[in-house]
Amino acid sequence: MPTTMSTIKPSATSADAPTVPPPMLGASATATPSPSRRMKFETRDMSFYYGSHQALHDITLSVPERSVTALIGPSGCGKSTYLRSLNRMNDIIEGTKVTGKVLLDSVDVYAPNVDVVELRKRVGMVFQKSTPFPKSIFDNVAYGPRIAGQKNLAALREIVDRSLKQAALWNEVKDRLKDSALALSGGQQQRLCIARALATNPEVLLMDEPASALDPASTARIEDLIFELKRNYTIVIVTHNMQQAARVSEYTGFFCLGRLVEVGRTKQLFTNPAQKETEDYITGRFG
Ligand code: ADP
Repeated sequence: MPTTMSTIKPSATSADAPTVPPPMLGASATATPSPSRRMKFETRDMSFYYGSHQALHDITLSVPERSVTALIGPSGCGKSTYLRSLNRMNDIIEGTKVTGKVLLDSVDVYAPNVDVVELRKRVGMVFQKSTPFPKSIFDNVAYGPRIAGQKNLAALREIVDRSLKQAALWNEVKDRLKDSALALSGGQQQRLCIARALATNPEVLLMDEPASALDPASTARIEDLIFELKRNYTIVIVTHNMQQAARVSEYTGFFCLGRLVEVGRTKQLFTNPAQKETEDYITGRFG
């Protein structure tokens, strides 16, 4: 049954926003201090349950604005669950429960009056397997804005142009916007999905292994793109590829068995981890 819900307030400007000592607050933050940085997402003692199975235990982690935060860890340790809990994508799975706090710009995203559609507009998602709709390139990118009520063709064209340019796909497709998206290569399809996510003007992009199905050249393009996008967006990326985490992110959180073992600046976590478990993982002793 649809309910009327209030919207999460748009983000405040950096000038008036509260700041938290950076870089991240975790169970065992190891990073060295730097000037205060605004936090986009904060989870505090967040636990997550699939029915009686507890997949996440007391996760306290902050995601600085306009940065790339990578989540690494062995398969099944809760990285995707954590990512999906940020924009309530897990809500669609029956029997799930969240405890603790998930704050976006200091507002609880699980508060009963939150408009989930609005939340997902602000917090877009890109999945491991590119999922273009069986529609034209144009219609794929215009999909979100159309659902949101945009009918003006000139405005839609502008959004499609902008999003494809931001996703570094424009030059490859500008002369064939009416062609089927399914005719694009795998790497192009993934950038199309990024363009589709960008079309609704999100503030955060959640990426769940966005390059794991791609060849090295396409992976490099996606990584370049992530690097470019962080100027304007906050990005949280799940990756099983530690080299990728080291290349694209400023902050890294290491998850294991549903717990956040360690979080800190990427360079520090990979060169001088605070926890033995992290060291064992990054040196390939398990995982
Ligand atoms: P990762 O992303 O690190 O591989 P996941 O977040 O996918 O880990 O999974 C964490 C745990 O939650 C695992 O034990 C997994 O089996 C369980 N899980 C994930 N998705 C579901 C689901 N839809 N229903 C029940 N359990 C799930």
